[in-house]
Amino acid sequence: MNIILLGPPGAGKGTQAQRLVERHGMRQLSTGDMLRAAVKAGTPVGLRAKAVMERGELVSDAIVSALIGEELDAMPPGQGAIFDGYPRTAAQAEALDVLLEGRGRHLDRVIELEVDEDALVDRITGRFTCATCGKGYHDKFEQPKLPGTCDRCGGHEFKRRPDDNAETVRTRLAEYRAKTAPILPIYEARGIVWRVDGMAPLDAVTAEIERIVGDEAAAERG
Ligand code: AMP
Repeated sequence: MNIILLGPPGAGKGTQAQRLVERHGMRQLSTGDMLRAAVKAGTPVGLRAKAVMERGELVSDAIVSALIGEELDAMPPGQGAIFDGYPRTAAQAEALDVLLEGRGRHLDRVIELEVDEDALVDRITGRFTCATCGKGYHDKFEQPKLPGTCDRCGGHEFKRRPDDNAETVRTRLAEYRAKTAPILPIYEARGIVWRVDGMAPLDAVTAEIERIVGDEAAAERG
């Protein structure tokens, strides 16, 4: 099963993708994570992407589609993929069709997380992750149970994204509205779009996503 989680920055795509990974052994393909890793490693892709990401603009379609292709090639054929933060433009949506088809895969579901834009700046500027295992937290909504210690791995180091500031978030939202939201009709025409209320509590969002993908993913696992 291959699914896209679609929604503006801060909608909860990454969190819900992680939960799908834990529950169903699917693989999260986050172009944002891949790009951040490339920036950290100082690869040619990272060097080109760094300033663009810091401004909150979109990295080129060719770069992100190539990253997705490489990741898909590294996956066992039977493992499901969750596309998180990709595709973000019509050109990427077209590229994804080609990438999937060339690997004998097809897109099963597009899940749109609907959120109130006013809440997004708050959500994004408060978030941080464990530097060791990547578990997500939030200043207001989800602090580690033991202060300074990751609930999942016991790590003590946490980090924040440089582009999670109020100013960059506004550019990221504008990019979403202008370039990403318009790809929804492509998938609506195929009848594969499901909408989920991304303002509901995290567990309720997970339950709704489970209802949409759960049975099929469990059946595939056997
Ligand atoms: P994200 O982690 O998905 O919020 O992405 C962080 C940043 O990486 C974005 O603001 C873009 O600069 C870049 N990025 C991530 N995914 C894509 C994509 N599919 N297309 C273009 N740029 C991307």
